[in-house]
Amino acid sequence: MPPNHPSAPAGPESHRTTTTERGSFCYAHCTCGWRGPSRRSRDKARTDASTHPPTTPDHRP
Ligand SMILES: [Zn+2]
Repeated sequence: MPPNHPSAPAGPESHRTTTTERGSFCYAHCTCGWRGPSRRSRDKARTDASTHPPTTPDHRP
């Protein structure tokens, strides 16, 4: 393994969304720290996840 990584793990492309179930609720989660609202169906949570990645520049400083 090289000591220096040319690409940092955190970046504008590092948006990996997953869905997490909690009780009877489900919500989307992203590696950038974003979290979607609690949904009653996983389908809705997945929709939240699919709408999250940089279609809107809300991650800009
Ligand atoms: Zn994200």
